Amino acid sequence: MLQLLKYGLGLARADRRHLPSETPLKKSYDVVIVGGGGHGLAAAYHLAKDHGIRDVAVIEKGYLGGGNTARNTAIVRANYLTPEGVKFYDASMKLFEGLSSELGINVMYSKRGHLTLAHTDASVRTMRWRAEVNKHMGVSSEVIGAEEIARVAPQMDLSRSARWPVLGALYHPIGSTARHDAVAWGYAREASARGVELHQQTEVTGFDMADGHIKAIETSRGRIECGRVLMAVAGASSLVAKMAEVSLPIRTVPLQACVSQPLKPFLDPIIVSGSLHTYIWQSQRGELVMGGASDPYSLYSTRSTLEWKEGLMAHMLELFPYLSDVRLMRQWAGMTDMTPDFAPIMGKTPVDNLYIDAGWGTWGFKATPACGKFMADTLAYDRPHSTIAPFRLDRFETFNQLGEAGAASVGH
Ligand SMILES: Cc1cc2nc3c(=O)[nH]c(=O)nc-3n(C[C@H](O)[C@H](O)[C@H](O)COP(=O)(O)OP(=O)(O)OC[C@H]3O[C@@H](n4cnc5c(N)ncnc54)[C@H](O)[C@@H]3O)c2cc1C
Repeated sequence: MLQLLKYGLGLARADRRHLPSETPLKKSYDVVIVGGGGHGLAAAYHLAKDHGIRDVAVIEKGYLGGGNTARNTAIVRANYLTPEGVKFYDASMKLFEGLSSELGINVMYSKRGHLTLAHTDASVRTMRWRAEVNKHMGVSSEVIGAEEIARVAPQMDLSRSARWPVLGALYHPIGSTARHDAVAWGYAREASARGVELHQQTEVTGFDMADGHIKAIETSRGRIECGRVLMAVAGASSLVAKMAEVSLPIRTVPLQACVSQPLKPFLDPIIVSGSLHTYIWQSQRGELVMGGASDPYSLYSTRSTLEWKEGLMAHMLELFPYLSDVRLMRQWAGMTDMTPDFAPIMGKTPVDNLYIDAGWGTWGFKATPACGKFMADTLAYDRPHSTIAPFRLDRFETFNQLGEAGAASVGH
């Protein structure tokens, strides 16, 4: 207490700039990270902190954390369907728990409980399957019936007369949310404090290749030579990989979300209904954060549509009929890179010094800490970290897909 008072009254403390002023690009770097979203920034931080690799540049065409990191609805959970997925996301949640103190910024990690509703017998069966895999991997998750759902989320219409009555739910007590901007800015500041250069408004436009190797990177601010390259560009993954002559099994589709006007706090848990293509939670500011299914076509666009909003609201009112007078405040979209098995791609590529962090579709915010840590390790030792080895790119050639669709889509 005395120390706090002394610090508060003291004049000696220097105001720490969030980030240093930008410097000119150097001619070469040991590591160049393409994409200054949460993933690229987390990898940069861990390269510097865990492995002492500090000659690193993050190249971002827009502003830091302004891509899907800024657009996501911040749900963090580990109740996936495959053992590989559950293990990976569980590791990420554990890192999230200590992230505020690790980065010295409040990432507002908030444990709320996560309910995935089942409206049909078939989805109750899938929930049971998920719960068993989760428990086997040590992740708290169970199927609960109507009585228990009414205790956890009394705000929902649980009547039998609803068009799609709720039969049960997969309950994941540790399901959480976190402040996405704080996560990105925390990693950016701590990476920069360890010597990583962050270059915004700089677009990667091509790779200078020789014998399956990237010699140099062409950018809108000139050419840079590089040792290793990590691409972490989410919705632009296929475009950037193509510059290195790598073809990815990825389809890019828009995903929309919206928030309501602020309301008094009334909703604790995160509620998801795959059948109704709907999810909702209430932010610390009181806004209802809502989303649903991806747009049903491939497109490189962040426009939002009236059609999507109307569909979402029709379903939302089936669960919360009393919200009909609430106004929407904002609606937006991001571009998501979807893989055939709804699992990400992490690891090496056929280009010997190009590493990939992609295929995060609609669910990659929660992965930010673990992906950053394990990708940094993969670059440092030039082999996939054991936790992310199953997510390698060549699984699509060797028929080792992961089959995460049952747990990845609307639930994010
Ligand atoms: C509406 C919506 C809701 C979502 N909700 C959730 C959720 O609740 N939970 C969850 O876990 N996930 C969610 N996601 C998914 C999540 O947002 C992403 O998977 C995650 O943010 C990916 O992080 P990233 O750092 O890889 O990508 P980004 O944050 O998109 O960063 C990639 C960066 O690369 C830059 N870039 C692209 N091309 C180039 C180039 N040529 N040169 C230089 N820079 C380039 C971009 O400008 C961008 O800033 C959601 C996504 C959307 C769109």
